[in-house]
Amino acid sequence: MRSIIMGPPGAGKGTQARFVSERFGIPAISTGDIFRANVSQGTPLGVEAKRYMDAGDYVPDSITNDMVRHRLAEPDCASGFLLDGYPRTLAQVEVLDDILAESSTALDAVLSLVVDRDEVVTRLLQRARTEGRSDDTEEVIRHRQELYAEQTAPLIDAYKQRGLVVEVDGLGEVGEVAERIAAALSDL
Ligand code: AMP
Repeated sequence: MRSIIMGPPGAGKGTQARFVSERFGIPAISTGDIFRANVSQGTPLGVEAKRYMDAGDYVPDSITNDMVRHRLAEPDCASGFLLDGYPRTLAQVEVLDDILAESSTALDAVLSLVVDRDEVVTRLLQRARTEGRSDDTEEVIRHRQELYAEQTAPLIDAYKQRGLVVEVDGLGEVGEVAERIAAALSDL
């Protein structure tokens, strides 16, 4: 299964992606996690990405697309994957289409986690306290939500037109949401 999990920052994509990964035996690939690993290792990519991440801005496509291209070429992605946090722009959608076309594959599903905007901000502020992510200040959280609404939410409509979107209610206990997702994906 080649799939994407989408939803606004704070919708619980990372947590749910890990559940799906275990349940379906496919790697969950989070571009945010790859960037954060590079930041903590102090790689040149990490140094570059951090400037954008700390401001809540998107890392330029030139950096992000290459990183994803390399990751998807790893052997563990051969039978499927779940992308978390990519694509985030229409330009990234096109690059992903190209990457998949090059290996004669295509997406099977785009999982859309539907959540209430206020609930999401509350969750992010909570995460700021427990995880201490440097991009979880209130101002940056607001900026990330705006960027999502402007640049990333339209991707859901684009994928809807292709008939790929599976909507799942993202509100409720983590386990409940995981069950809804598993049921929705098993029905595909
Ligand atoms: P996330 O963990 O998915 O919330 O990502 C954290 C941050 O990493 C984002 O706010 C962006 O700065 C950067 N990032 C992650 N994925 C992408 C992407 N597909 N395109 C651009 N920037 C990204």
